[in-house]
Amino acid sequence: MNVLIVHAHPEPQSFTAALRDLAVETLRGQGHQVQVSDLYAMNWNPVASADDFAARENPDYLVYALEQREGAKNQSIAADIQQELDKLLWADLLILNFPIYWFSAPAILKGWIDRVLVSGICYGGKRFYDQGGLRGKQALVSLTLGGREHMFGEGAIHGPLEDMLRPILRGTLAYVGMEVLPPFVAWHVPYISAEAREDFLRAYQARLETLGQDQPLQFPRLEQFDDRLYPLNRNA
Ligand SMILES: Cc1cc2nc3c(=O)[nH]c(=O)nc-3n(C[C@H](O)[C@H](O)[C@H](O)COP(=O)(O)OP(=O)(O)OC[C@H]3O[C@@H](n4cnc5c(N)ncnc54)[C@H](O)[C@@H]3O)c2cc1C
Repeated sequence: MNVLIVHAHPEPQSFTAALRDLAVETLRGQGHQVQVSDLYAMNWNPVASADDFAARENPDYLVYALEQREGAKNQSIAADIQQELDKLLWADLLILNFPIYWFSAPAILKGWIDRVLVSGICYGGKRFYDQGGLRGKQALVSLTLGGREHMFGEGAIHGPLEDMLRPILRGTLAYVGMEVLPPFVAWHVPYISAEAREDFLRAYQARLETLGQDQPLQFPRLEQFDDRLYPLNRNA
């Protein structure tokens, strides 16, 4: 299998980087092909702008998704985006590896999503969820955070982890058609002992070695909705 790891942490020696290195080693050890996009090391530009298109369908008014669609057809998307898109299309499994920043992904990773998940290829028209452009691929989010496990869940102070990750798991990865595996979470990372952090590394390795046994998360399928995307069973 081909694996793309998109890694977003500004410190090369971080624990999050240790998760990335472990994933590379473990997956290559299993015979998989692995590429890494280390966004801070690449000095990735996260800002979606008119500069992303060498030629413009409408030079007077920027409709970013429209220009993405035209750019994908005409191969006039900026080279840094095209390189990442090629890696994404090559991959059978995408791993997003990052620390939680403000209940979300670091801005540099959000900017990778904004610019690389190109309309017309990854989604567009009624090609989303199970009909998304990236169907057939799998996605795994591996993340670190400061909070403790008991702070997340129904009735917990921060609410369910799935709610916090909804924009990424559902609004992004499931939306473009990927089969989304349950996230791997390393809790309370800066405050625990080195041994406890090593336990997380061992747990991540075990998880990576048994990915085939994961039950994907469940998301809507378009067949459950009518032409205007009202749920078919709304009067049931
Ligand atoms: C802007 C911002 C917003 C944030 N928002 C949130 C939020 O909304 N919710 C939340 O819960 N948290 C939040 N945090 C906290 C953040 O998610 C955590 O600090 C981060 O995930 C910790 O992971 P790290 O990789 O940065 O750890 P690091 O600080 O890099 O590492 C922790 C320790 O692990 C050690 N280490 C490195 N490699 C290894 C190894 N191989 N084995 C064992 N130990 C190792 C390091 O030396 C260090 O001592 C936020 C932080 C920032 C900066």
